[in-house]
Amino acid sequence: MHASAEFAEPQCRLCGSGGSVYMQRPEFSIRRCGACSTLWCDPLRFNDTFNPDNEDAYLEVDDAIAAENRLRVEFVQAHAPPSSHERLVEIGCMHGDFIEQARHRGYDALGLDLSETAVEHAAKHRPTMVEYGTLDENQADESLDIVAGFNVVEHMEDPGEFLDHVHRVLRPGGWFFAETPAQESLYHWAFMARGFVQPGAAALEVGMHPGTHIFKFGKKAWRNVLERRGFSVATIQSKSTPLRELLAKNKQAPLLFRGGIVGVGALARATGLGNRVLIAGQRR
Ligand SMILES: [Zn+2]
Repeated sequence: MHASAEFAEPQCRLCGSGGSVYMQRPEFSIRRCGACSTLWCDPLRFNDTFNPDNEDAYLEVDDAIAAENRLRVEFVQAHAPPSSHERLVEIGCMHGDFIEQARHRGYDALGLDLSETAVEHAAKHRPTMVEYGTLDENQADESLDIVAGFNVVEHMEDPGEFLDHVHRVLRPGGWFFAETPAQESLYHWAFMARGFVQPGAAALEVGMHPGTHIFKFGKKAWRNVLERRGFSVATIQSKSTPLRELLAKNKQAPLLFRGGIVGVGALARATGLGNRVLIAGQRR
């Protein structure tokens, strides 16, 4: 791995402000925007790495994912019921489980994903629900009632451009739902402390690394980012990744690290400082 000037990123992609170094790692910096509080990796990625999420880890915990998606559908329904907001597109939908549940509840729902293997898997098991792609110029202005993206915005190289597309394709009064890792979380603070104690440790400090989780939002950052882009923020709530999913993703990690995940996870649930936020914003 080597850093490249091509992907150097001194300024915030969400608002254009300068970012000061929040944490220095051996091969990259984590910067924080002074204006909107978003964190990002500088460089955004390395030349020679592309690390998609581990899809097998998701398939292993299919039932836990289904339970999470049920909560997400209920969250969506509470803000934007299908009777008034029928047309829904989910970005980064993986195998289409959320789409299946949304259709079951009456939404005209379609999933988009940039993983060819996920799209193939969905074509076999959930035909017509998932297509290859993302939000881009091909979607007509004001053509959707809902755009959703769960655990996907933090992977994007230009979330600002994505949010501009979300705003453009939603009709006024349409809704954007997202889930991302949060800065206001016990995991975040525990990882940060570990980064200071062991500056050479190669782990994903604060859960961020070029080419994987490039951006990190949170309660404060999402409020700033959405308000600036023409959304009214209705709900921002803390939540936790199911432990089984975290452990499946960290199967190769040392026992002590896996034990730490369990301990911090229990405390995060008890204190309401979970590792992710679920947000609902309405296009003005
Ligand atoms: Zn910013």
